[in-house]
Order: sequence, then C-alpha cells, then structure tokens
Amino acid sequence: MPEKIFVEESVKNLPFARQVLERCTGSSVETVSSARELIRSFQKKRVAGFDGKKNLLLCQNRGRFLEPCPGTKKQYLCCGYAILNTGTGCPLDCSYCVLQAYLNNPFITLFVNRDDMMEELEANAALIKGKIVRLGTGEFMDSLALEHLTGFIAFIMPFLRKRKQTVLELKTKTIHIENLLGLDHGGAIIVSWSLNTEEIIQSQERGTAPLKRRISAACRMIGDGYRVGFHFDPLIFYPGWEDGYRSVVDLVAESIPPSSISWISIGSLRYMPQLKNSAYKRWPDTRIFSQEFIPGLDGKMRYMQDIRVEMYSKMTGWLRAYSEGLFIYYCMESMDVWDKTLGFAPSSNAELKKLMDQRL
Ligand code: SF4
Repeated sequence: MPEKIFVEESVKNLPFARQVLERCTGSSVETVSSARELIRSFQKKRVAGFDGKKNLLLCQNRGRFLEPCPGTKKQYLCCGYAILNTGTGCPLDCSYCVLQAYLNNPFITLFVNRDDMMEELEANAALIKGKIVRLGTGEFMDSLALEHLTGFIAFIMPFLRKRKQTVLELKTKTIHIENLLGLDHGGAIIVSWSLNTEEIIQSQERGTAPLKRRISAACRMIGDGYRVGFHFDPLIFYPGWEDGYRSVVDLVAESIPPSSISWISIGSLRYMPQLKNSAYKRWPDTRIFSQEFIPGLDGKMRYMQDIRVEMYSKMTGWLRAYSEGLFIYYCMESMDVWDKTLGFAPSSNAELKKLMDQRL
C-alpha cells in the first residue's frame, strides 16, 4: 500500500482512479494540477527522506500505451513482443533494476485513462488482424506487484477472450496470483517468473518472493490450467554461481512438468553505464558490478563473451538434461552466442518471433 497518493485533477474521477483510491484507505491523498509539474518539482528538490517507491501517482498517459520492445539493435536478436504500458516504476527493489537509470519519474505511476488504452489496443488489433501478438506488461514494472490495486487481469480479460490471437505474458517475482485462479482464461495468459539463485534473491532483490514460493506459485498456476514461463535473467557471475544456478534448475526440474512451460529465457547481467552510480547510491554494498564488463553494441555493459558463453552453455546443458524439448531463447544476444551455446541461431528477429509464436 502506498503511503501517499498524488492524483491528477483531470483524471481523479475516472473509474480506475476511483477504484485505486477506494482500495488504499490508509494512504493520504493529494490532488495535483499536473503530473509533469509534480515530477519536475521532485526532481529539482530532491526532498529529504522521499522514497518514490512509497508514493503512487495516478495520472493520464499522454503517450502511447502500446510499443514494440526496444530490443531493436540489429546485432542482437529480439523476440518481438509488444509492451503494454500500464504505468511505470515498481514497488519491488532490485539492485540491477534498469529502471533506476531509465526513468526520470521517481513515483510509482499508474495510467488511469484506461478507455484510451483499450481504444489503442482495439485499433492495433484491427490493423494487424490475424497476426499473433505477445503482449507484456512487465517492462516498466513487475506485472503482478500492484494487481491488488489495479485489478488489471479482470479489466483486460474480455479483450483477450475476444481477440484470440493476443496472448498476455505477465512477468513477475511475486506470488500474487490470486486474481488469476479460477479464471476462464482460454490460454490467453502466460505467467512467467524471473528466477535467480536464493543468494542473489536475498541479497539483490528486496521485497520479492523467495525462490521456492515462486516455484510453488507456478505449480498452482499449472494446476489451474495455465502455461508458465521462466526467465533466468539476469544471470550473475559470482563465486558459487555454478552451484547456485544448478540448484535452481534442479528445483524447476523436480517441480514443473516440462510440457507446461511455454518458454525459458536466459540473459546475463547488462546495464547502461549510468545505472551503476544510481545503483550504488541505493545499494552501497552490492558487488554485482565489480566484474570486468565491456560495452556492447547497444551501449550496455556486459560480461566478456567467454564468460557469457560459459554460463549459457552450463545453463542450457542442465536445462536440456531436464527436458530436450524445452524452448530456450536468449534475451538480447548475438547470433554468434546463440550458435556457440545452442547450436543454432534464428536468422532474424522475425524468425525468433515465429518460433515463440509457435509455443502458444
Ligand atoms: S521486479 Fe523488475 S521492475 Fe521491479 S525492481 Fe526488480 S527488476 Fe525492477
């Protein structure tokens, strides 16, 4: 629950704004004339003790709700999913979170003009009639961390039921699956968990669910007829990484039938250079940036290729031993690395998208 909610005057009576305000009975509320001005004033003031993660901003999205995933550098393969912007900022707190460097807005923000969102979704669906769309809400926040306030699943379900070619992937590190249980979802939703070693979860992912609880939540979803996904991202190279990640794969293998897994992605730690300073301010003791990194073609810092190849080879070997048929892909990796570790590489982003679409 947020400590304080700022709501933009022009949208405070929209149904979604009212719903959130009704659910946050203990939060103080302030109406503001302009979200943009509010954000600017907090950027300038650097208010002492202000923690953006405890403050919620309800405002209008004046930009687009639907965007292609920014993984567009042609040297790296991108799976071609579409981002649905429901808001920005995340109440969870990971030391490596890209949002620390990416967002200028310090508030957790929810866009409340949902009619506009729906209009855009419908227009897009009409435009690309018949094509499969994989939508994701987990780009600028955890997909389920605020579900108790947003009720987003109930909101989007009628659209998903009508538009059979659209599948929504909810990416999370939480276990907030209550609103999904018992739904007539018709395969339109895939819940996927970001997985890491217990050590990394405890030391670098504040506020997230422990590993075993994430896996138990995935089991409950499968029991309810859902397919699930897993993202081993970011893989972090630290003393003991091999044992750590091996036991995560073992836990998945013991608990999850491979036929219920749509896909597994793997990605190693990468970050824009400016992220490091922001992260050290909030995580002075973190050691995850104390390795040798090189700038990639997209400007992001990455482990040297031989380290990435070693980690990916081990991970794919363990995953293949669990099940040969798993669909494994890399997030933002070159064809060269695909080839070296998986023995093949999709020839283009379009081919990778096609392979992913076949998993639905
Ligand atoms: S869960 Fe994702 S969006 Fe939220 S803080 Fe962690 S990395 Fe960032």
